[in-house]
Amino acid sequence: MEVLSDEIIKNFLENASLYSWKTFSQPKKLRTSLWISEIDEFCEVCEQARPFHDLRPRGGLSGRNIEYLKSGTSCLIYTCVSCKNESHTFLVEQIVNDDIVKVQKYGQRPRKKIERDSKLQKFFKQDAEYYEKALISLNNGYGIAAFAYFRRIVELNISNLLDLLVSDLNTEDTENPINLAIAELRKESPMSDKIKVANKALPEYLKPEGLNPLGKIYSLLSEGVHSLTDEECLDKAESLQACLSFLITELASRRRNRDKFKKMVGAL
Ligand SMILES: [Zn+2]
Repeated sequence: MEVLSDEIIKNFLENASLYSWKTFSQPKKLRTSLWISEIDEFCEVCEQARPFHDLRPRGGLSGRNIEYLKSGTSCLIYTCVSCKNESHTFLVEQIVNDDIVKVQKYGQRPRKKIERDSKLQKFFKQDAEYYEKALISLNNGYGIAAFAYFRRIVELNISNLLDLLVSDLNTEDTENPINLAIAELRKESPMSDKIKVANKALPEYLKPEGLNPLGKIYSLLSEGVHSLTDEECLDKAESLQACLSFLITELASRRRNRDKFKKMVGAL
């Protein structure tokens, strides 16, 4: 279980959907509140992502007996540091039980926007409706639905993803071990075999810190959702989206750079 740190609270405020509970453990030095000084949000006035700070006066807190975080509610208000015009408000309910803190957002203003990843959107253009539904489910914390939609989209697009990988390899050599592994993945075989093969189907530069996003995609595809909670499915849907987004973004930018290079060198 993750420890309730400033970083975790920041991520929770910025990304968690309404009414979905998250559970954390208390840090060694117990927290006195959920308050943190800064979050990063998109400012509609500045028309860009800006740091938002709590600009409310905090007088009177120092010198008092420090009370520890208790069950109840918290109202957190952050204002854009640049224009000092746009404020974002979060209402959070917390339940504190010994070392465990459960939190849920029960209000947020302005309403959180549904962020569409333009590269994924383009990649899934045949399945735009599923992608839209997956995002709506994610945004509402409907984890089981989100995971099911994402899984369906990935199943429908996995061979396009493999095509993209092959075109990035830029080699006709069918004996190349990575090419062999990709050919193996295209065959009908049990998912458990594919997870192993997927680990060999990526060049090193597509494995950040040794993590293999393709292997992760296959292992997520093989996981059923029969007995998982909404919260667990939400995590899985999010990591499915992150793995896909990483691969597609990397491959697209490499292709762009390669084309640019060809153009430049070709023009010499
Ligand atoms: Zn602003």
